[in-house]
Amino acid sequence: MENKISQMEVLKEYFMKNPNRDISHPEVVDWATNEYKKRTGKVFRDPDRGIRSLAQKGFLIKVKKGIYKYDPEYVNNRELEDFTKKQKERILKRDKYRCVICGKGRKDGVELHVDHIKPKDLGGEATLENGQTLCAQHNFMKKNLKQTETGKKMFIRLYELAKAENNKPLLDFCTDVLETFEKHGINGHIEWKR
Ligand SMILES: [Zn+2]
Repeated sequence: MENKISQMEVLKEYFMKNPNRDISHPEVVDWATNEYKKRTGKVFRDPDRGIRSLAQKGFLIKVKKGIYKYDPEYVNNRELEDFTKKQKERILKRDKYRCVICGKGRKDGVELHVDHIKPKDLGGEATLENGQTLCAQHNFMKKNLKQTETGKKMFIRLYELAKAENNKPLLDFCTDVLETFEKHGINGHIEWKR
């Protein structure tokens, strides 16, 4: 009978059964080699390398040499950069359960989302600082206004240039445009320093 379980899966299984505990190499290696032999009849090759590889992939936290830990919350963050339930709750609470743009909350009948200020695909992390509460409507707008990022960046460059050249009319124009971005909460992750 063929058992398709892989060496990596056996290693993962042990750490997942023992979450949030510092585990030394020999402990997991002994278990994994026995278990692998039992289930597949084969010899587990180089389990130490397997453990190091899991740490490199962000599945395990290296506590110190030869000691590793599995923290489910850390794995979720690392793999997806999604906010955990706990983080979402803290961000919503910090923002007083209101959309940071329009101020509407559940009492006003809107659905609230926790949004990455700097988007995930641009390297935005699942940290409290990078989270904000948005209503469904503003979350939708933000996601669909990516193309305006280029425009905002251009106006920021133009603003800097006008400032350096002391060009008042151009400076006023850029200020108006950039204030409009701010007023509508568009592309807030691109910072405009006055
Ligand atoms: Zn809103």
